Amino acid sequence: MQNTIKRLFAFAFVLLSLQTAMAQQALQTPAQFLGYTLGEEFTTHARITDYVNYLAQQAPNRIRVQEYGKTYEGRPLLLAYVASDENLPRLEQIRENNLRQAGIADGQVQGKQPAILWMSYNIHGNESVSSEAVLQVLYDLVDPNNQQTKKWLENTVVILDPCVNPDGRERYVQWYKQVQNRGGNASPYAWEHYEPWPGGRPNHYYFDLNRDWAWQTQIESKQRMAQYNQWLPQVHADFHEMGPEQPYYFSPAAKPLHESITPWQRDFQYTIGDYNRQYFDQNNWLYFTRENFDLFYPSYGDTWPTFNGAIGMTYEQGGSGRAGLAYKKQDGDTLTLTDRIAHHHIASLATLQATAEKADQLTQEFRKYYDNNLKKPGGAYKTFVFKADDRSVGNLKALTDYLDQQQIRYGYAGKSSSSKGFNYATGKEESVRVNQNDLVVSMYQPKSTLVKVLFEPSSNLEDSLTYDITSWAMPYAFGLQAYALKSRLDANNQKPAKAANPIKVERPFAYLARWNSLQDVKFLTDLMAQKVKVRMSEKPFEMENRQYEAGTLIITRTGNEAMGDKLDAVVRATAEKHGVTLQASTTGFVSSGADFGSGSVRFLKTPKVALMSGEGVSPYAFGEIWHYFEQQIGYPVTVLGTSYFGNVPLHEFDVLILPAGSYGRVLNEQALEQVKNWVRGGGKLIALESAAGFLAGKKDFNLQKKNGDEATEKEKAKETKEDPYRLLRVYGDRERDAISEDVQGSVFRVNLDKTHPLAFGYGDTYYALVRTSDTFSFMKDGWNVGVLKKDNYATGFVGAKAKARLKDALILGAQPMGRGQVIYLADNPLFRGFWHNGKLLFGNAVFLVGQ
Ligand SMILES: [Zn+2]
Repeated sequence: MQNTIKRLFAFAFVLLSLQTAMAQQALQTPAQFLGYTLGEEFTTHARITDYVNYLAQQAPNRIRVQEYGKTYEGRPLLLAYVASDENLPRLEQIRENNLRQAGIADGQVQGKQPAILWMSYNIHGNESVSSEAVLQVLYDLVDPNNQQTKKWLENTVVILDPCVNPDGRERYVQWYKQVQNRGGNASPYAWEHYEPWPGGRPNHYYFDLNRDWAWQTQIESKQRMAQYNQWLPQVHADFHEMGPEQPYYFSPAAKPLHESITPWQRDFQYTIGDYNRQYFDQNNWLYFTRENFDLFYPSYGDTWPTFNGAIGMTYEQGGSGRAGLAYKKQDGDTLTLTDRIAHHHIASLATLQATAEKADQLTQEFRKYYDNNLKKPGGAYKTFVFKADDRSVGNLKALTDYLDQQQIRYGYAGKSSSSKGFNYATGKEESVRVNQNDLVVSMYQPKSTLVKVLFEPSSNLEDSLTYDITSWAMPYAFGLQAYALKSRLDANNQKPAKAANPIKVERPFAYLARWNSLQDVKFLTDLMAQKVKVRMSEKPFEMENRQYEAGTLIITRTGNEAMGDKLDAVVRATAEKHGVTLQASTTGFVSSGADFGSGSVRFLKTPKVALMSGEGVSPYAFGEIWHYFEQQIGYPVTVLGTSYFGNVPLHEFDVLILPAGSYGRVLNEQALEQVKNWVRGGGKLIALESAAGFLAGKKDFNLQKKNGDEATEKEKAKETKEDPYRLLRVYGDRERDAISEDVQGSVFRVNLDKTHPLAFGYGDTYYALVRTSDTFSFMKDGWNVGVLKKDNYATGFVGAKAKARLKDALILGAQPMGRGQVIYLADNPLFRGFWHNGKLLFGNAVFLVGQ
């Protein structure tokens, strides 16, 4: 025993001395630590994490590391905070000071306040150079012998996210390692330059995280933005890659710039650009500025920080998932990973230098920005009002959750008043009656620029050649009745008292729940999971002086006998969990409409759902649906692969979903025949966007593509008559001419047949974010549930020719086929997971139609 203890002591002593010896050793470079020079091979995420942690252990006076979360696949997400010896111990004070400068936290700034620079790497997984470059950047920042970075850190705190999207990056890196030639093969035809489906760009659910900054639908974004909002840096830089033939891009950004970007923010884009330019010129490296990468859509890593008071920068290196370790370009030069690292490395340091040398000005302007936000908010509208009523409970809850995530302040009207404002539903200025419980978002708050960008009815587009969708107005996205007021209306922070539980009966005949939002879908699927049997009224009804719309869920005691006495507790607890207000009835008799025993009160079967994936299917479109089932409503879904679809016994499923994709190969004549037979036997086929387009015109499918050519030809003839020189187009205008055919994500009011289950819960209108002008004609045989008539455009950019095609068009259709159904969704209601208003619609398609 004695001996063992002695030996343990001796062992501990050896360990201790080893540690001390290591600490005294010089800081290891990435090459020394990894065992290869950066650029010789790709570094796995595990090794990236190891090196960051190693630096934090070795230089605790210079760098601190925080694990701020995990990815969907369980990989750690890290932030490294690098600061001077003086600033690192007072990081928390610096952070609080910064929020005080922004008016978000109370109190006075204490001590000298440095500038904060945040740099994000590898948000697109296969743009893999970024997480290599950051290791060199980190070493330079931490290296005690580096006088230059030491000087810059005197007045700058640097926050680095070494890998924003570890799941996507690993998908790329592991694949590359499996197929690469030893040392890499530069031939552009080598296998290692052709990533397989679905590619490493997106995250686990195939979401593009660099379209998710403003919406924060993904776990990576949610956790990262919670940190970001604690810091609100003065400068944010986001590191990317583009095609391998292009050299390098840094700011100033291209047009259009959103009108809310201040002159100072525009100017400083040039300043940082200048710092970069000097280094790139010195090295004779090619680059371009002011092209391709605009500052308009608010959900990028440059725009979202910009609307939060930062200078938002995008850096793009030529390379991406195409370039591997080496890639022979068309001009004969070979682009190596080493070159790519060098460029992002220099750009990172140039950004730090610019921030450090202008730190005082940056913090000053930052204060001014937030001060203006609070006291002199921009834009015509000063208040946004969202109407509260029985139907809006779920959507309002979703909106307030979203506002909380964004640190946007809101309140409630507190009393009734009258005003004038822009009505989002009609697109007109009207008088507005504001009620006590209406939700109010005032522009007089620190984040008013963000509010303006997200809520204003339309954003002025100074130039229509933009990289992304052009409309996202949140009142439409959340499907709420909303008004924008030019007058100031201060909100009351008092939350309206929650209505007391209206259920007075202990064991009612039935429970009733309205059907108006995603929450209601979650409530239904949760009940289904607990084996509670649920019915749904296909007709509106009235009972006990209350009106109920079609789609109302009815949970009767009859049919749920198996639950026994547990039924009441289960239903009530589930409603509470999802924020659903229940009503109870003591009878199955209604004063108008259909009694609960009527044939139009349908029992909702719990469907077995299959979802198509794999080669040919759009990874994004598939991922949005996959995420919907697994993360949003928590409902089981079986993912099928296109490669073996022919062998799947479809009778095992009730619903088959086809996301956008090209189906020519997988749904050949024979496979399509099988699918039709399955539908005729009672199956439900849901086809979205190009999948619906694939079915259009095929035998037994009643959908027809809209003949856009006819209209276009007529128009052309008319134009030529008006302008005989119309055909003399200018070569330099070719991009601009092409966009007249475009619709780049714009909001349309879809007229609904509200008696069809696909439209339940919406009333007469559904706001769709339309991204294509490939539309369908009204169906002669089938239900035209959602259509665009002539004046249905709400907001966003639509080219003149596209606009013509977007009228008298079918957007949502349902075709009974035998005992089954085919549902066509020309619009994708789950686009990027942020169009909240579409989520109920998709739930209708899966759970209500055809029951
Ligand atoms: Zn990118």
